[in-house]
Amino acid sequence: CGIFAYLNYCVPRTRKEIFELLVKGLMRLEYRGYDSAGIAVDGDKNTTKDNNQDIVLIKKKGKVKALDEELYKKDCMNLEAVLGTHFGIAHTRWATHGEPNAINSHPHRSDKNNEFVVIHNGIITNYKELKKYLNSKGYEFESETDTEVIPKLIKYVYDNRERDDLSFSTLVERVIQQLEGAFALVFKSRYFPGEAVATRRGSPLLIGVRSQHELSAEHIPIQYNILVKSIYWIKIHNRPEDSSTAVSVTGDGKGMEYYFASDASAIIEHTNKVIYLEDDDIAAVVSGKLSIHRLNRQAGEDPVRAIQTLQ
Ligand code: GLU
Repeated sequence: CGIFAYLNYCVPRTRKEIFELLVKGLMRLEYRGYDSAGIAVDGDKNTTKDNNQDIVLIKKKGKVKALDEELYKKDCMNLEAVLGTHFGIAHTRWATHGEPNAINSHPHRSDKNNEFVVIHNGIITNYKELKKYLNSKGYEFESETDTEVIPKLIKYVYDNRERDDLSFSTLVERVIQQLEGAFALVFKSRYFPGEAVATRRGSPLLIGVRSQHELSAEHIPIQYNILVKSIYWIKIHNRPEDSSTAVSVTGDGKGMEYYFASDASAIIEHTNKVIYLEDDDIAAVVSGKLSIHRLNRQAGEDPVRAIQTLQ
């Protein structure tokens, strides 16, 4: 399948621009799978009851073109609304579990309120056990896919969290510790508006990075600016708590845009600065700043993963 997602932080985009960007990304990836497609974006704040940013899912059987047409039929979505900070996710499916139809297509959701939504490329081999467990805890499933255990599991972790201040990436970290099989995943949540978490094991995923503004000297990490010119505004440092490595975009994050995709063909038209995620990397964007760390990294393992420039 194809995964494509786009985050803008303090970069005003209309909903129409975001739709177009997501659809174009999916079309570039359509060769990877094309039985159904779907997206998740934020709805209009003022149309929701509690003024919370509700997430809207739009899914359609068939080619990306069919999804594209569906997007403009939603009259509850204001196309001209300007979304200064937003995270939209999109998926084109190649079914492995469950027939191609709108319900089985991605994004999948945690519950009827769309608290957590996820797109997945790959196969979760222990989904039956997880589903049985989650069923026994009262979580109800609506699709026939292996993928649906993932949003249910993150909601379970969230509902049973011991502290209120757990980060989105910590929730995802706990989820992937339970998963077997292959996956590239991108998560969005109404509890973490404007934030993104992406991770992979076995299936490909990369992140394109683009900045709207001139970067000042404070963005230049002394040790890397000469070595790798193309990453002059990316700082690479060790995370003290677990000796794994984070790649962080420095500065205030404003004016940053991130593109998440299964392959570079969907990103290259936006930026040539990319980071290929490795197995068990967890990438998070919070307040426009990207950081990446590795699950269960052993102390002393070579940590550095650099941003690359596509030719
Ligand atoms: N196994 C998942 C499904 O059947 C993901 C398939 C894909 O990678 O498109 O929905």
